[in-house]
Amino acid sequence: MTQQAPVMRICISCKKTYDRKDLLKITKDHKQGIMFQKGIGRSAYICKSTKCYSDSKIKKKLQKALKTFLEPEFIEIFEKEITSYNDHPNKGI
Ligand SMILES: [Zn+2]
Repeated sequence: MTQQAPVMRICISCKKTYDRKDLLKITKDHKQGIMFQKGIGRSAYICKSTKCYSDSKIKKKLQKALKTFLEPEFIEIFEKEITSYNDHPNKGI
């Protein structure tokens, strides 16, 4: 049996490399707009550390990474999303 190498991605906030499974993926989907953990398009990854997602500059960093404008409501949705994600770290495994 060969062990599959984990897919590594960089957190846009702390710039550390993590296993993709441990990151929240934010995608600017071509048709549906901003999506979490799904969608096709430009994506950014953020780790689950409170320091990263509660960073006051996170919206700016995301806008830059996704090359898009994020609505003010986005951060509210984003925080809910990452909090629920943190509650179920092993979801889907
Ligand atoms: Zn981070």
